[in-house]
Amino acid sequence: MHQGISTMPASHHSENASSAEDTVDLRSDTVTRPTMAMYERIRQAPLGDDGLDGDPSAIELEELAAKQLGKEAGLFVPTCTMANLLAIMAQTRRAEQVLLEQHSHIYNTENGPAILTDVILKPVAGSGGAMDLSLLEEALVFDRGLRSSLICMETSHNSAGGAVLPVSHMAAVQRLAQNHDLKVHVDGARFFNAVTALDESPSRLASYADTVSICLSKGLSAPAGAVLAGPKETIVYARKLRKVLGGTQRQIGILAAAGIEAIEVMQSRLGEDHARATRLSTTISKAQTSLGVSVPQTNIVMIDITRTGRTSGEWVSALAGIGILTRSMSSKVLRCVTHRHLDDADIDRAANGFISLVTGEAWPEPGRNLVESL
Ligand SMILES: *Cc1c(COP(=O)(O)O)cnc(C)c1O
Repeated sequence: MHQGISTMPASHHSENASSAEDTVDLRSDTVTRPTMAMYERIRQAPLGDDGLDGDPSAIELEELAAKQLGKEAGLFVPTCTMANLLAIMAQTRRAEQVLLEQHSHIYNTENGPAILTDVILKPVAGSGGAMDLSLLEEALVFDRGLRSSLICMETSHNSAGGAVLPVSHMAAVQRLAQNHDLKVHVDGARFFNAVTALDESPSRLASYADTVSICLSKGLSAPAGAVLAGPKETIVYARKLRKVLGGTQRQIGILAAAGIEAIEVMQSRLGEDHARATRLSTTISKAQTSLGVSVPQTNIVMIDITRTGRTSGEWVSALAGIGILTRSMSSKVLRCVTHRHLDDADIDRAANGFISLVTGEAWPEPGRNLVESL
């Protein structure tokens, strides 16, 4: 059906699914398994000691990612969380401020910069994952005596339901940063989803930032890994800091080889995930239930269950009971993420599951522990 798994003899379910045959796993695009082509690259990857004189496959991945993103250099790291942490550590000094959107992954989920660095994280309110530009400017102008040195953006934006920052917004943030002598980092865990949705080139979108992190293990399907790309000097320093954090690995070309396949081949199919997110959203919306369904820009659909009179925890359990796996984003909102192990039939099954539960038809008997019955 699509590159990467098209070479496989069996169905996508038996060959590649991360969960049982009869479940539709919408919890995250991180559940995606390596493709056969990745295993093949892993088997053939030239290896070295990345902490000593270098691993050729890690170097190839770093150069490939840097080139794609139009940056001088790249650094292979175990996770995008570490890439973001290194971006902050390498571009700030003690007691400086980092400005970032209030619902951003770095501010809300990672917490590392707050615990492990001496910088101050200043959340800026906004909507759709984009900081309010006048609030951002105010934070820059009225700085209470502390220097702000870095602005972080996030695209696509996870908690804003996979929203993509408009290019004009990214350009405006960069202008503000340049006017006030700040650096810009983009948390691009799903950067290629944004690139796909905007039909932009990765390097053009990355040109609005000094550094960009990309995650290889989400929709791109590598088993693990991320890359931080940016100016040579910044990456040289980040490489030293990676060692400090314990993120320097040895024959890591084993993982980098899968990352090369992720960037070269897998980004081109992300549009399929976006189309399926739209299919899920549209099918549920058409049924005109009390569910509040987001209109996705990428591969994430947010479903607000407030008007159903049940909590998101109850919804997650009830859905799991009929083989549909989702996650609570708050007590009122569930998140569904599409990825390459789901086909149209899976999406329709998930949509119909939501619809049958909201109409009360399939809602389980009280007291039955669905999570345990999984
Ligand atoms: C998943 C995610 C991360 C962290 O990626 P890991 O590789 O799991 O550490 C960072 N930022 C955003 C926006 C994410 O969605």
